[in-house]
Amino acid sequence: MHEMSFSQYAQRVYARCDALALHSQSQEGMDRRYLTKEHQMANAQVAQWMQATGMHTWVDSAGNQWGRLKSDVEDAPTLMMGSHIDTVPNGGIYDGILGVVLPISLVEYLVDQDISLPFHLDIVAFGDEEGTRFGTTLLGSRAIAGTWDENWKTLEDAQGISLEEAIKRFGSDIESIHTASRLQEKVLGFIETHIEQGPVLEAQDLPVGVVSGIAGANRFQITVKGSAGHAGTVPMNMRNDALVVASEMIAAVQEIAQETDVVATVGRIHCSPNAVNVIPGKVEFSIDVRSEIDARRETAVNILRQVLNKIAIRRNVDFKWQVTHGAKAVLCDPQLQHLLTEAVTASDYRPITLSSGAGHDAMAMANMCPIAMLFMRCERGISHHPDEAITVDDVEATLKVLVNFMSIYLKEYQQNKNTIMSLPFVN
Ligand SMILES: [Zn+2]
Repeated sequence: MHEMSFSQYAQRVYARCDALALHSQSQEGMDRRYLTKEHQMANAQVAQWMQATGMHTWVDSAGNQWGRLKSDVEDAPTLMMGSHIDTVPNGGIYDGILGVVLPISLVEYLVDQDISLPFHLDIVAFGDEEGTRFGTTLLGSRAIAGTWDENWKTLEDAQGISLEEAIKRFGSDIESIHTASRLQEKVLGFIETHIEQGPVLEAQDLPVGVVSGIAGANRFQITVKGSAGHAGTVPMNMRNDALVVASEMIAAVQEIAQETDVVATVGRIHCSPNAVNVIPGKVEFSIDVRSEIDARRETAVNILRQVLNKIAIRRNVDFKWQVTHGAKAVLCDPQLQHLLTEAVTASDYRPITLSSGAGHDAMAMANMCPIAMLFMRCERGISHHPDEAITVDDVEATLKVLVNFMSIYLKEYQQNKNTIMSLPFVN
């Protein structure tokens, strides 16, 4: 048996993230979108690594790349791991990618140790999580989880290519998209490893953290209408300045978020006519509110709406509150969370629990099976940016946690199934 050190497995993971970064549709930065030539090339590269470990590979009708470490047990159920292989324009090379490449090295380790599992271990590279090509997120994972929406086929990219056409060019057929669904199968769970995309692990000086849940989010488009006028001729006490009112509202958003313990952001603002010598007549801005606790988020939203409405009345402006997005929080499976936490402890790291403020494929997969997530530290919490960075040491730590998770999971699984197969702890 050839023995590789954990550090060597980790270096391989790190190098593979670099290798996948070569498949970018832009020369300037990382950009790989759903159903593109680059997506196809990245899939092929991932498939090659999977096959080298002895995994059986296929691409499903939605363009997701799969690999299976097949169990010898008849009618075996499946444990799934994976993440997305698409990126945002000018993005990083680890967001999503890490969660595809890392489990492949887990499989390499299991194969090197001559471990054969009583269940299939499937690794998936989801084709679309970011939604940057067709404007709708989680297309890959939603096809798998059986929540694909028929109406999506007419979605178009910036070049006017429909999703239906793009799937055809990718070598599939939208009419067969339902075959990507794994909803009817025995799926034990889905575990996603992902960079944290936040600063908490770095601040705690820890390589990994266990995710408790993925925050629900509400988005609103606010329109404030006052009256435009000449910046020189309308006296201050006779003005109805929409931007001044919007400013008061935006400050209130921050205060209310802090008081109600949610995160809320005004990230986009449009002022019109947006001219140096004209009093702003109309301002539109977005509000994004998130929390892992749905009731808390709903309370925050209700207070926000009341307070903004009061400001509008007091300031005598027209006020419109429009809902643009709403998604409930998705909680990670308590049992899987518990096992991941034990795996962190077994790897000699202090276990901490984090909430995910960003959306992930695991949200979609929760429709099908229990889900869990493991976050890995990334430098300064930066993501969706070329400066996204990780260390080989953290990859090594995370791989150990995954190995120890498999060890604990196997033990648990066999206590229920009466089979014998064990995997020793590593640290
Ligand atoms: Zn991601």
